[in-house]
Amino acid sequence: MSHRFNRHTCEEAFRRLDDFLDRRLTPEETRLVEEHLKVCAACTREFAFESSVLKTVRRKLRQLDAPPDLLSKVLSQLLPPPRPER
Ligand SMILES: [Zn+2]
Repeated sequence: MSHRFNRHTCEEAFRRLDDFLDRRLTPEETRLVEEHLKVCAACTREFAFESSVLKTVRRKLRQLDAPPDLLSKVLSQLLPPPRPER
């Protein structure tokens, strides 16, 4: 039983969003994100939106046989940058 669903966890969840959607997280991290989504409507909405955007874009690009470079370019236009990394 953990009750660590606070702002910090929201931030963590968002930071893992891309990797979560790409299934690149460890099982532990995936579980944490999923647990958070169960209790956080804001993150759930955001995840669902990004997930559907990603899927649509990827499907279209696959149909066009686009290089992976283009995928990230298109995505960076569609999605606002999360926050500058250091
Ligand atoms: Zn959240």
